Amino acid sequence: MPNNSNVHVIDHPLVQHKLSLMRNKEASTNSFRRLLNELAMLMAYEVTRDVPTQEVEIDTPLERTKTRVIDGKKLVFVSILRAGTGILDGMLSVVPGARVGHIGLYRDPKTLMAVEYYFKMPQNMEERDVIVVDPMLATGNSAIAAVERLKELHPKSIKFVCLLTCPEGVAALQKAHPDVPIYTAAIDRQLNEHGYILPGLGDAGDRMFGTK
Ligand code: URA
Repeated sequence: MPNNSNVHVIDHPLVQHKLSLMRNKEASTNSFRRLLNELAMLMAYEVTRDVPTQEVEIDTPLERTKTRVIDGKKLVFVSILRAGTGILDGMLSVVPGARVGHIGLYRDPKTLMAVEYYFKMPQNMEERDVIVVDPMLATGNSAIAAVERLKELHPKSIKFVCLLTCPEGVAALQKAHPDVPIYTAAIDRQLNEHGYILPGLGDAGDRMFGTK
């Protein structure tokens, strides 16, 4: 098990409870999607803990005061298609001003390598902090490819958020991008020979969209 300050396991009881409900193979598509959404909101709370704030002046009903706000527009949530969409929705409900980027990657079933088919980011990425979202950090190939592409645009920072990972996924992403912190709800036992996390929760995209 990695023991590294760049890996943040969000072990809040609410997060663990919802993740357990999602793992259950009897969970319906509807409840899987709702739980993922709720989990993403809770994880957004942790992953945005250190985002910069700026002072603004406002009028309360009683007097003028100085107070702090985040500049949501400086944050970019980058969703790795298609399963990243589930986390993206939850994160956007707590940071509605954030910008959104999409990276389309699929796993070649034979090589398990990531193949890019779509890439669309907001402008001026060099002014922005990026949070990449994908529910499963398994082989790490998609995450590594996504971060590599994003680094070409020189954002101020990159963080990676997933619901579940395994020692192999953490090690691969950290080896390729040691500067990118990983936020996850759990680090499971292992990867199987098909690139699935064990015990895991199955295929996150299929379970979220009801495609199997
Ligand atoms: N992607 C998934 O959806 N599930 C896994 O277990 C691994 C990768």
